[in-house]
Amino acid sequence: MHVLIDDVQLWDGTGSAPQARTSVEIRDGRIHWIGPASQWQGNRATIRILDGRARTLIPGLMDCHVHYSSPGGPEWIARFTDPLPEISMRAVELAETSLRSGVTTARDVGAPQGVSIRLAKKARAGEVRAPNIRAAGTWIAHRGTYIPLARHFGEPAELRDAVRTEIEEGADLIKVALAGWNEGARPQSAPDIPFDEKLLAVAVEEAHRRGFKIACHANDPISCRIAAHSGVDSLEHGMYLQAEDLETMAKNRTFLVPTMSVWDAMLYYARAVDWPEARKRRAEELRNGSRAAVNASIKAGVWIALGTDAGGGAARHGRIAREAELMVECGMDPSDTLIAATSNAAKLIGEDERGTIEKGKIADLVLLDANPIENIGGLRLIAAVFQGGQRVG
Ligand SMILES: [Zn+2]
Repeated sequence: MHVLIDDVQLWDGTGSAPQARTSVEIRDGRIHWIGPASQWQGNRATIRILDGRARTLIPGLMDCHVHYSSPGGPEWIARFTDPLPEISMRAVELAETSLRSGVTTARDVGAPQGVSIRLAKKARAGEVRAPNIRAAGTWIAHRGTYIPLARHFGEPAELRDAVRTEIEEGADLIKVALAGWNEGARPQSAPDIPFDEKLLAVAVEEAHRRGFKIACHANDPISCRIAAHSGVDSLEHGMYLQAEDLETMAKNRTFLVPTMSVWDAMLYYARAVDWPEARKRRAEELRNGSRAAVNASIKAGVWIALGTDAGGGAARHGRIAREAELMVECGMDPSDTLIAATSNAAKLIGEDERGTIEKGKIADLVLLDANPIENIGGLRLIAAVFQGGQRVG
C-alpha cells in the first residue's frame, strides 16, 4: 500500500511539539517520507491520498495490559472459565475490537490455556485482524494466593520451573501475580503474602537471564512494596504504592502500568447492576488508592505506560481513550499521556521499530478527527488506523 497522509498535524511521539501542515508517506509498510506538505515531490496521480486537514496523526496506540480471553463487564472473572471454544472465538473478536480503537500493539498479560499465545502467533502470521500482541502465557502465582487458573508454585525451584515452562510454551513475557485479583484483593489485616522480595527475585533473575521481560501484578501495600524493590520491568495496577516504593521505581526505571479503567468500570457496574455494598466499597477503595498512587508517581518521575486491563477487570475492550482521560484527570499532561500510550509503551514492551513516527519505522498510525493535545478524549474520534502500512480501521 502506497499512501500519503497529506497536510496533517503530526504528533510523532518523540517528545517534539506537534507539527502543523506536515505530510507523511507510507510505502512498503514503513514510514517513507515526512516533511512540510508543500515540499512533497511525488506524483499525486499514483498514490492514495488521505486528507489530513483538521486532523492529527499519532503513532499507533499501545495497550500494555489487556486480556483478550475475557470481555470484561460485571462478571469478568467468570468469563475466564467459559468453555475453551467460547474463549478462543471471543479472543479473536475482542482483539479486532481493540485494533479498530487504534491499539496496534498490545500486551496480553494472562489467559487460560495458552489462548493468548495462540492468538499472538495468528496475529503475527496475519491470519487474524488483531494488534501486534506480546503474550504472557498464564499468570504465575503462589499457591497461598487465591488466583485461580494460574500456574501455581510454592518453592523457589518450582517458581523457576514455572518461568521456564511459560517460555517453552511460547510466552513473549512473564507475568507474576503477588496478590489476589483486584476485586477480592487481600485486606490489609490479612497475614503476610507468602511471597517476598527474595522469592520474586528468583523469577526476575530467571526471566531476565533468558532475555524475557517480567510484569508483576501488585494491588495492595505489601505486594506493591515487594514488586517495587524487585527489579521487575513493570508493576501492574500499583494501588497503594508508597513514596519510598516510587523512589526506587524511578531510580530503577520500573514502569507503572496504572490500569485505572479497572475501578472506573467497577464503579459503573456497581451502580448499573446494583452490586452488593462490599463490592461497591472495594471499587471506591481502589479508586482512591489508585488516584493517589498515579498522582504521586507522576511527581516522583516514575515511568508510566498505559494499560487498561480490559477483560482482566470490569473494563471492556476498545475503550483506551477512557484510560487516557483518567490519566489526565490524575494530573498527567496530555502529551505525556500519549507518550505513555506510544513511545514509552514501546520501551516497556521492547518494540524498537514502533511507538514513534519517524522515517524507516513500521507504519503503525492513528489518524484522528481531533487534536488530542487539546482534548485527550479526541482519541475516540478515529478517522483511520494503519498497521504495518495497511489500513485496518
Ligand atoms: Zn490484568
